[in-house]
Amino acid sequence: MSKQFIVIGAGAVGLATAQALLQAGCQVTVLERGELGQEASWAGGGIMSPLCPWDYPEEVTRLALLGMARFERFTSELTAETGVDTEYLRCGMRVLPPFDPQVAVDWCAAHGMRYELSDDSIFLPEIAQVRNPRLLRAMRERVVQLGGRIVEQCEVLAVESQEGRVRHVRTSQGDFKADDYVLMAGAWSKALLGEHAQQLDIKPIRGQMLLFKFAVPPLPHILLQGDLYFIPRKDGHLLIGSTLEDVGFDKSTTEAARASMLQRAVVLLPALQGRPVVRHWAGLRPGSTGNIPTIDRHPSLENLYINGGHFRYGVTMAPASAEVLLNKVLDRPQTLDVSPYRWR
Ligand SMILES: Cc1cc2nc3c(=O)[nH]c(=O)nc-3n(C[C@H](O)[C@H](O)[C@H](O)COP(=O)(O)OP(=O)(O)OC[C@H]3O[C@@H](n4cnc5c(N)ncnc54)[C@H](O)[C@@H]3O)c2cc1C
Repeated sequence: MSKQFIVIGAGAVGLATAQALLQAGCQVTVLERGELGQEASWAGGGIMSPLCPWDYPEEVTRLALLGMARFERFTSELTAETGVDTEYLRCGMRVLPPFDPQVAVDWCAAHGMRYELSDDSIFLPEIAQVRNPRLLRAMRERVVQLGGRIVEQCEVLAVESQEGRVRHVRTSQGDFKADDYVLMAGAWSKALLGEHAQQLDIKPIRGQMLLFKFAVPPLPHILLQGDLYFIPRKDGHLLIGSTLEDVGFDKSTTEAARASMLQRAVVLLPALQGRPVVRHWAGLRPGSTGNIPTIDRHPSLENLYINGGHFRYGVTMAPASAEVLLNKVLDRPQTLDVSPYRWR
């Protein structure tokens, strides 16, 4: 009899992990509070890389690079199996100053990342993008194809434990029981655990995005300056992001953020002048110190795991993170040093 898992949360991390568990022969039920894939994973830009990759510690780089290395195959298999085009595209990313060219070049050389340095920027031709809502649709279909059960409008209210084990989870649709439980509730993971959180390092960090539409893509690649980025989709949509706001579980958008992003964006892309904003939204990232996620077994509940706190790069890291979690659950050797992702 194969092992039964309950996955809590159906974002990119939850769905990638559910898929990995199913492909390893486990039985999986995914419990989702609302509709699948409507939170941070939907709200994000889909850049497959840390923004200025040289700004991050090796713990982030390692997981992000593994995710980036896995993503092309991951999405092409999803598309082949589900027929949903995720619009994964290696369009490249141009980074404008301020950045230290020597630090950037040294980082690229040390990590095997191709680059083209010019007087006014550095271009990273291998950086890709994906279209989040399509990715999530494909992931949903794949989980169902592999025999996973997805239960939406099912909020996990409490983790009930006894003698160092989770007995069941109490939800808005009654109790659910399995052998093992994996918590992937994004920004809500710590709140959900309550007394079991044990100093888990995850909190919501809001990010706002603006969407525009052009007849043809106004840029050939992703453009980044500081924390402002432009992501051109192939149908002419252009995403502009993003803010980093520590405002708790407040997902509202603000006029101030819209005005500030627009003001800076028009300087870099004058074609935006006078163009209407098609949509303005916000999402809550699962923030963590240093952007380092926790991928581990609970310190005192032996059948509870977490895969969370991916902060700004959870979509990029999702396939790699799922792999690390799977190896942990099945007691298989890891392909990278996972000690930084321990429950802190
Ligand atoms: C504006 C913005 C831009 C971003 N850009 C990028 C980018 O370009 N590249 C990148 O890699 N990353 C980006 N990110 C970060 C990325 O989106 C997140 O790191 C990632 O989506 C986290 O995935 P997750 O599955 O952990 O969380 P989520 O997608 O938030 O999923 C968690 C799920 O858990 C569910 N849930 C919560 N509580 C419960 C409960 N009690 N019971 C049941 N279910 C529950 C939620 O409803 C949700 O569906 C961005 C994020 C934002 C907000």
